[in-house]
This record gives sequence, structure tokens and C-alpha cells, in this order.
Amino acid sequence: MPLNHIYKKITAIFLLLCWANEVLAGGVGHVFIVSFDGGKPSVMRDSNMPVFKHMQQHGACTSAAFTVVPSYTLVAHASMLTGVQPNKHLIDWNDWRPAKGPVQVPTIFALAKKKGLTTGLIAGKTKFKHFETPYSLDLFSAGETAALDVAKAAAEFIVTQKPNLTFIHFADSDNAGHSYGWGSEEQKRAFADQDAALQVLRSAVAEAGIEKDSVFILTADHGGHGFGHGTTELEDMHIPWVAWGKGVKPGVLKGRVDIHDTAATALWLLDVHVPRGMDGRPVKEAFYRRQK
Ligand SMILES: [Zn+2]
Repeated sequence: MPLNHIYKKITAIFLLLCWANEVLAGGVGHVFIVSFDGGKPSVMRDSNMPVFKHMQQHGACTSAAFTVVPSYTLVAHASMLTGVQPNKHLIDWNDWRPAKGPVQVPTIFALAKKKGLTTGLIAGKTKFKHFETPYSLDLFSAGETAALDVAKAAAEFIVTQKPNLTFIHFADSDNAGHSYGWGSEEQKRAFADQDAALQVLRSAVAEAGIEKDSVFILTADHGGHGFGHGTTELEDMHIPWVAWGKGVKPGVLKGRVDIHDTAATALWLLDVHVPRGMDGRPVKEAFYRRQK
């Protein structure tokens, strides 16, 4: 066989392998995004959180991912759940304003729903109503709710519906931070309670029989200092980011992770097309390349 013929064959095989890797990069049936509101990495480290820490140790993680400016709950979660920065999602307020209506750019739930996936959002603050866009969510629940009750509602949804994309928000740690301070004993207790709530989610995923086909992304919307947040200080800007589950390559992530990357990663894992205009990029470093 002539040499150039062999080269051509090798090139063809190489391109096929690259294509196969790219096409089959997702291949996950279920993604659960869990947001610990005000989850400052150093305070979480000092709190009694065995479930979170076990997933962190066995997952791909960083304690220095970045939220957006300004580091406020609604602004940051809008970036987490749409994959774009504030200059595109245009949410620049931080409370429930019915007259403003739902966020005007597509959420990950709307994009997943287009593909026929089952989606849910269960949040511990009323202002998440801004993410209830038409026909995008099979379950939507947002109210001033304690983490354990949020987790129980999510657990029932998980066991009965085996959803593909679920977002769960725990508010207690942020509420405690504003009342008693970031790093206070009260806030550490809230993180411990939220760890118990995380276990409720884990148990539900196991009971549903979908654990081996699931990825959890554990993260936060902002950190905090004193009795608040919202500045460009790293104490406010740094958030944890942990991927745990199917296909996750354990270890500390070297590349930069931004809050909007959570959206792109969830879609990529579920084999939903990531729109060109999205600022976020899938955190591919956190996963083994998959081949069938
Ligand atoms: Zn917040």
C-alpha cells in the first residue's frame, strides 16, 4: 500500500475519533444543579458538611469559581440559569418584581424543554419567579422556604418523575449570613442543615434508580463578608463549583470556571445544543471523554 494512502487512512481514523468524542461528549440522563445561597467556600469548609465534602473530594472541584458583578442573588442566578452575563440577561434588580415578568433570554429549562426533557426548579426564595418562563418547567416552586422543605419537594419530584434537569436552591445560609454575619455559628448551622437537605436529594436520586446516569453540580451564587455581599471583592465573588457523578474526572480544576459555565455544562451533559450567543462554556475539564 502506498505511503500516502496509509497517511490518508490514519487521518480519516483520527478525524472519526475526534468527531465521535465531540458528538458523544454528553451522554448523561440527569443533571441536578444545587445552589447554596451565599456559599462562601471558606465558611462551607469550616461547617459540618460531610455529604458536600465527600462529593467534593470524589468529584472535580474548585473553590475559586467566579460569580458575576454585581454579586447579588437574582443577578447571579440569572447568569447561572441562562448562561449569559448580566449585560445580556438584563436582570439588574434583586427582588420579586411582578411587573418585570420573566427573564427575557432563554433559560436552560426552556432549551431542555425544546428537546422534550423533563425539568424542575425548586427554590427557597420568591424572587425565583422571574425564571418561570412559559412552557419551560414541569415543576416550578419558589417561596420563602427552608432548605429541608425545598429538598423534600424536590425529592418527591425526582422519585416520581425521574427528571432530566433539576435546579434546587437552598436559601438558609444566605438568610443566616444577613442576620448573623458570614462565618457566624448560625450560618455554619444553616450550611450543616443544607448538607442534610443535600442527602435528601441524594437518597431520592438513589431511590429513583438513576444515580449511575446522573451528575450533580454543587455551587453558589456569591460569597459574602460582614452582613452582606454585592461587591467585586473576592470574598463576594468566589464561589464553589463541584461536579460529581457519571463520567466525572476527580481532581482540582485548573481552568477558570464562571457561574454562567454551569448552564453550558448542564446542557452539554444532556446533549442539548449550547446556543452560540451563550457566554458560558462547558467545563469539559471536569469529565472524562466519553466513547460508546
Ligand atoms: Zn444570594
